[in-house]
Parts: sequence; C-alpha cells; structure tokens
Amino acid sequence: MVQELNVLSEWIPEQMQPGTLFVLENAGDMGDEEDPYWAVLSCPECGTLGLITRRQVVGLVAVICGSDKCSAQFFIRESDVVVRKVS
Ligand SMILES: [Zn+2]
Repeated sequence: MVQELNVLSEWIPEQMQPGTLFVLENAGDMGDEEDPYWAVLSCPECGTLGLITRRQVVGLVAVICGSDKCSAQFFIRESDVVVRKVS
C-alpha cells in the first residue's frame, strides 16, 4: 500500500494512481449535509476510485475501499495513509 497521498490540484485521470487525492471543485455540494462528499481518492492499495467525505479527508472517519477484491481500511492523516488496525 502507498503510504503517502499525492494531492492533485487539477483533475487528470491518467494521474490517478494509487494513493492520489483530488479535491472536488464542488466539494461540499453533494451527499450528506453534515458530511458531504469532498474528494476523489484512488485506493492506496488497489487504485479503485471512490468518493470520500469531508470527515474522511480530515481523518475522523476511516476510508474503506469500495472494491470487492480489496479490503483496505485506513485513515488519512494530513497526507499520510495510516492503516486501520482491525481487531
Ligand atoms: Zn482498494
């Protein structure tokens, strides 16, 4: 798994390698009012793209990969990926 996120300031699909984060241009407009969608993240393990919420971006809520073939769970700490310990 990639340990550090690469933050893109421009949406360049070809550069969405594993562990790349792109903050949505309309961040906060979609999803839950309390915890709206905020960014697109490619899973640091498998590269599957998924929308993550504001609480996930700031590390309050764990990110869980949406792929059936990947069980990555992790927190975002600044630009680091911290694997969630599953007990
Ligand atoms: Zn994954």
